[in-house]
Formats: sequence, structure tokens, C-alpha cells
Amino acid sequence: MSSSDAPASTTKLAGAPPPVLPPSPVETMKAERARSQGIFDLRRMQFAMGNGEQEIILKEKFMMELERDPLFKVDDIHDLTKDQIRERTMAKFSSLIHWIVNERVDVFQKRLNVISLLDPGFYTRYGVHMGLFLGAIRSGATPNQMSYWMDKGALSLQGLIGCFAMTEMRGGSNVAGLETTATFDEKSDEFVIHTPRVEATKWWIGGAAHSATHAAVFAQLIVKGKYHGVKTFMVPLRNPKTYQLLPGIAIGKKFGRDGIDNGWIQFTNVRIPREYMLMKHTQVTRNGEVRDPPLAQLTYGALLGGRCSMVADSAEVAKKALTIAIRYAAVRRQFKSGDAELETVLLDYPTHQRRLLPLLAQAVAMGFTSYQVTAMYEAMTAQLEHFGADSDEAETKAVLDNLKETHATSAALKACCTWAALETIEKCRASLGGMGYSAYSALPSMYADQAVQATWEGDNTILMLQSGRSLVSSYGDALKGIRLPGGSAYLNGLPGVLTTSCPSDDATLRLDTLEQAWDCVSANVVRQAFEKYQEALKVQKLTREEALEACSQERFVAAKVHTAGYLYRMFHDAVIELSKTEPASNGVVKTLDDICRLYGCWAIEENAAYFLKYKFFSPKQMDIITAEVTRLCAELRTCAVLLTDSFDFSDHIINSPFGCYDGNVYERYFARVKASNPHNPVAPYFERVIKPLIEREPLELVDDVDQIDLDGEIAEIQAEREQNEQERVAAKKAKRASKAIEKPESYPQQAYYQGPPGGGGDKGPQMYQNGAPGMQQGYYPPPQQGQYQGPYQGQQPRLPLLSSHTFQTTTTIMT
Ligand SMILES: Cc1cc2nc3c(=O)[nH]c(=O)nc-3n(C[C@H](O)[C@H](O)[C@H](O)COP(=O)(O)OP(=O)(O)OC[C@H]3O[C@@H](n4cnc5c(N)ncnc54)[C@H](O)[C@@H]3O)c2cc1C
Repeated sequence: MSSSDAPASTTKLAGAPPPVLPPSPVETMKAERARSQGIFDLRRMQFAMGNGEQEIILKEKFMMELERDPLFKVDDIHDLTKDQIRERTMAKFSSLIHWIVNERVDVFQKRLNVISLLDPGFYTRYGVHMGLFLGAIRSGATPNQMSYWMDKGALSLQGLIGCFAMTEMRGGSNVAGLETTATFDEKSDEFVIHTPRVEATKWWIGGAAHSATHAAVFAQLIVKGKYHGVKTFMVPLRNPKTYQLLPGIAIGKKFGRDGIDNGWIQFTNVRIPREYMLMKHTQVTRNGEVRDPPLAQLTYGALLGGRCSMVADSAEVAKKALTIAIRYAAVRRQFKSGDAELETVLLDYPTHQRRLLPLLAQAVAMGFTSYQVTAMYEAMTAQLEHFGADSDEAETKAVLDNLKETHATSAALKACCTWAALETIEKCRASLGGMGYSAYSALPSMYADQAVQATWEGDNTILMLQSGRSLVSSYGDALKGIRLPGGSAYLNGLPGVLTTSCPSDDATLRLDTLEQAWDCVSANVVRQAFEKYQEALKVQKLTREEALEACSQERFVAAKVHTAGYLYRMFHDAVIELSKTEPASNGVVKTLDDICRLYGCWAIEENAAYFLKYKFFSPKQMDIITAEVTRLCAELRTCAVLLTDSFDFSDHIINSPFGCYDGNVYERYFARVKASNPHNPVAPYFERVIKPLIEREPLELVDDVDQIDLDGEIAEIQAEREQNEQERVAAKKAKRASKAIEKPESYPQQAYYQGPPGGGGDKGPQMYQNGAPGMQQGYYPPPQQGQYQGPYQGQQPRLPLLSSHTFQTTTTIMT
């Protein structure tokens, strides 16, 4: 018999009716979906959420292929050792070769995006080669160098696996401050790559410990004794045949992503041919002449791709976590409301809706934004690839403008979205209660894997400051009348935009009002940063860099508010676009419209101080916003599970029994726990640790218990109690006499302790009410002095006893 078919418990609690057995989680989930039928067309919503029909069909194809590939088995991933994970991660490389060689690069990238959700560790190990190493070649190599490295196997992974060696032990964020040197030896026409001191050791280098044969090394170029800044050099690390000449070893245990073999590298006068410096931008000639590019900024284009894809990753990761949390909340019951027969599902609690649904709206906003940012990045890369020495002034300006816009936008978006996804995972984890702490929920490992996203590819705080710097500069441009493109176009409305306000209470919730609100408040926080900067420059007479530092907090706030507004605008634009093609009857636009409003209102609520400070909304209008968030959460609750279906993840990708499509959470969880933890009642360390403890020789006991005089002590205690009782009775009589008031002999039933007002998980009074007479179930916080005066005063609650059978079957398991 399956556990969900099991009959109701036959033990009847004294005085309490037997609990009504709820429908199974599977039935609950079916009923949930049946209720939401017709709210929107699921397939059309999947296309809308997933950036179009073609994308969804590809995604589903990839998900199916992964599910059928034994190398991509993931249900045991939480119980593997670090070494097992690394070996399996490497084995996956070979299963992808067919696709690397035969699939178009953009299609293959989409395959990788799906893999990243399933196995972030593999994605990173592979991504270090494909994204960073190859990205460095693509952005830094001349056409001939590009062909050379492709012929060497940089794309096909034949004879070459790359890593990206930028960060050093002493620092990663400040690239210009790196210490590794690349000194040109004119005589031999070689560069000498060298680590001058331990702090300059390349650190955290993904793939360096075991897999990489070559590294794209960032080092200070020195020619004829002169420093020319940090450039990229292709440095062989290992003989690809023997994998010998190991220059570094593993970093050791990390917080997450154990599949990547991060390592350190020290170079001791390693010689490479001059041709191994990537020379698309800066060139070093045979006789040591250094030709710098007119536009040094172009060298960092490679980094932006990673950032843009992290916006998309964050949206997907957040949607995955929310799928787990929402589906579980739709079937998990806890407490009853009023006279209801069944316990309430978590998703019906307004606080639970408030915890999860605004995060869902945020994830959807990030998803729509990521499509636009990816398009922006692709346009910029295409421009960069065609850019060369023969490009004219207009082309150069266009490339630079695009690069600046992509850099500023992707920097703050990467930071805000990776943080948002991390917070979403943690909130989802907590929303599962204890189950969220189980590794099998997948949420703990998702958190550990996501955490590093806030640090690598540009530390989030630093990226926010860079974006804030760009906003300060844009504000100055806008004041000069220069028209701003893209995300900061709202500054073109200066000065009027600074003083706009909500036209009326009735207009508060309109999507265009919300957009105006974001424009006004974003413009104001950017103004604040700009004015602080100007004051530091002009009044305090600081240098430009010092002045920027002086306004760093304002820059940070500007980037934060600007980005929340940007996400809202991108979402709103997407809803407007969709409304041109989706028929109103299928409910897609109406639902997205609600989600967009929820995101806009919730994000305003989260940043309420600025909206009040800059007087776009009155306090009353802020109340309207708050009420709308609660109302929309309740409304979207009716289709919350259907929305997780529209994210379109297979159970294999979700890889959590609590997020499975059919809602069969308990049986799946139990099966996974059992399968991954074979029952072994004797601990492997029994002989070494437990046995010596419990079988140790008893201490030599002297038979002198008489000294305790226990009976005498008991008599004393009894005498003391009797005296206390007599005093109590006497005091009571005296009190009665003085007040001359008759008291009833016994206490009415209602006088039982009812629990603290509102305590006990919102069901406090009921919980204690049922428990008082028999005191057999529920939690029993001791009554406060003076509260409970009934006949059980002074007694300890009795706890249910475990039968020996129960005891036997509840040991081991949770390892
Ligand atoms: C798992 C993992 C894998 C990695 N893989 C690679 C890889 O393959 N290749 C590679 O080259 N690197 C890799 N890195 C390194 C990563 O890119 C760096 O850790 C990152 O760039 C941050 O640099 P840092 O650690 O030196 O931090 P730091 O720059 O030292 O920053 C430390 C703290 O100081 C703050 N801070 C720094 N400067 C400022 C400032 N001006 N104002 C305010 N706050 C500031 C930062 O916000 C941060 O909180 C990896 C890192 C990890 C954790």
C-alpha cells in the first residue's frame, strides 16, 4: 500500500474527534490545476514567458535529451563526494562534443543554458572554456590568431581545454592592479610570464587544478623596461598528451559548484612566443614597438557576455526555486481555519502569498529584461567584430556608445538580478519550513551555487558603483542637452521629470503611472549622486576620482533604484508588445498585466522611502499601492501553479521532490531519501567511537548511598509543602473575609489556558484549547504566572510515548 493510500490513524485521542484525512497531495494538485483552468492559455503563456515558440520547442527538446542521457543523471547529486562530482562533470564534456561540432553556436548556447539549470557546476566548468577562454580569444585575437587557436582545437576541445586566469590572490576586481608580468625578450622574440610574489599567484582559476591545458593569462605587458598595462597572453599549462607539468593545485573545498576544479597558478619565467599575446587591440612588433589601440575600452568587451547571460540565468534560477516553493505550498496543509474540515494549504495563507508571489513577479520581470539585454549584447558584439582600423568616426562613436550603454546596463542588472535570485532561493527555502533544509529539496545547493554569482564576473558592489558612475556622467550629459539612448532615456525629461507626481489617487495603479513614478524617482536619485559629485569637485575641490568616491553611496542607491525601474520598464514594454499579437481572450496579456503591476507596486513598496521623499506618491497613495500588492497576490494565487507550469521545467530539471509536477511530494521525497541512504543500523564508526563510549568500565562505586539520607529529605519537603498549603488556605480565607465575597468552588471550563492572544502560529487559541484537558498533543509553552488557574496547575504535560515499533523505524535515514 502506498503511503498516500494509508487509512486514517486508528488511535482516537481522548475527547477529540479523529482528524479528517485530507485528500492526497496528488489529488490536491489536480484540483488546484482544475480550478485554474481557463485563466490563461498555458501554451501561449509558455511561449510568452520563454521568448517565443521556437525557443520553447528547443528548450523542451534539450530537456528531453538531457533526461535520457545517463551522464546527466542528477537525482543522486546531493550524496556524491567532491571527487565523484568532478569526475562526472568531466565525463559530461564528451557527451556534448557531438553538439559542439554539429550545432550552430547560438543553438548550442541555448542547450548550455538549459544545462546550467540542471548542473551549474558543469556549466561553469564548461563555461570557463567556452565563455571566458574562448570569449577572450574572440575579443582579443587578430583574425590570423583566431584561426590558429581554432585549428588547435579551441572550439572542438580537441587537444586543448582553456581556462581564464585573471584574478590573483591579492585582488581580482582591480584588473589594472594585477602583478603578473609578461616581459618582452626582444632577442628570442618571446614573452616571459612571471609571478613576482605569492600575492600575485593566479587564484580561483576554474579548470586550472585538473582540466585546462592552456590559460588566457592577464598580465602587465613590459617592453624595453616600460609598463604598457594589462594584456592577455595564451600560456600553455600542460602537455595535452600526458597532462604533466602541473603548475598549480586545487584551491580546496568551496561553498558550492564542486564540479569545478578551481586552482592556483604560479609562473616562473615561463616563455611563450610573441604570437601568443592576443593582439587585436594592442600590438607588439618584432623590434619591440608597442602600438596601443585608439580605444582601450574595447578590450573588455569579452566580460560583458558573461554578465548579460547572468541576468537570464538569474531569472531562470529564481523561476526554478519558485516552482519548487509554489508547488509545495499548493499541497502542503498546516492548521485549520474556523470550522473548515480540512487543514489549509500553505498557498491560501495571505502571508505565504505575500512571501512568494512578488518574487514570482520579479523573476518574470528579470526574464523579460534578459531577452532585451541579450539582444543588446548581441548587437554590440556584432558591431565589435566588424570594428577595425578602417572604421570611420561615426562607426567608432556608435561602437563606443553601444559599449558604454551595454556596460552600464549589464553591470547593474547583473548585480541586482544575481542578488535577487539569491534572495529568492533563500526565501523559497525558508517557505518550505524544515523540508527546505533537506538537501533533496535542491534549494540549499541552489543557494550555494548561486552565491558566487554575486562575486565573479565583477563583484556586485563594484558593478553597482560602476553603473552609478555612468549614471552620474549621463546626468551631466542630459543637462548639456545631449540626448540619451536606452535605459537612461528618462533623463531626457529633465528638469520636469524631477517634479512630476501621481495625477490622482485613481491613477495610482495604472501601469503608465507606475512607469512615470519610476522615471521621477530614478531621475531624483541620479540627481542626488550628481549633485554630491559636483559639490565634491567644486566646493571641496577634490579630484575627479576622489569626488566619485565621495558620492559612492549615492551612486550605489542611484544604480539600485535605476535598475528596479529599468526592470519594470522592460517588463511593461514586453506586455505592450505582446498585447499587439496575443488575443485578449486567451488571458495571457491580462495575467501578465497583473504580474507587471504586482512587480511595479511591490518594488515601489520596497523602495517606499524614495517615492515619498520625492513626493511622487502621497502617503495615502502608498497605502493604495500596499493594498494592491496584497490584492494582486490573492488574485494571482488562483493561477500560481499554472504560472509555474508556464515556466516550463521538466521534473528532471527541477530535481526536487517538492517541486514535482504531479504534487506527489511525500512519496517522492521518501523514495529519494531511502534510495540515497541505504539503511545501515550500525554506524561505520561504531567500533572506533560508540562502542568504547558505552562499553567503558563502570567507575568503582562505593556503597555509601546512606549518606544521602533521602527519606529524611523527602519528609522535610513534605512538611514544607504542607506548611505552604496551610498558609495559602489561611491567606485565602483572610482575603475572603475582608472582601466578604463568595467564590465558586470549582472553575468553569473556559478558564483553561487559551494560549497567548494571537500566538501559536496564528492558531494559538485552538491549539491550546484542544490540548488543555488531556494535554497530549501540540506544543505546551508553560502558562504564564497568573494565567492558568485550573485543576491541572503545577502538572507537567505528558508527552506521547514512542512505541518500540515506532522507535525502530524512525532511526538512521536523515544523513
Ligand atoms: C568559485 C569562484 C570561481 C572563480 N573563477 C575564476 C576564474 O576562473 N578566473 C578568474 O580570473 N577569476 C575567478 N574567480 C575570481 C573572481 O572573479 C573574483 O573573486 C572577483 O572578481 C572578486 O575579486 P576579489 O575576490 O579579489 O574581491 P576583492 O576585489 O578583494 O573585493 C573584496 C570586497 O571588497 C569590496 N570592494 C572592493 N573594492 C571596492 C571599492 N572600490 N568600493 C567598495 N567596495 C569595494 C568588494 O565589493 C568585495 O565585497 C572566481 C571566484 C570564485 C569564488
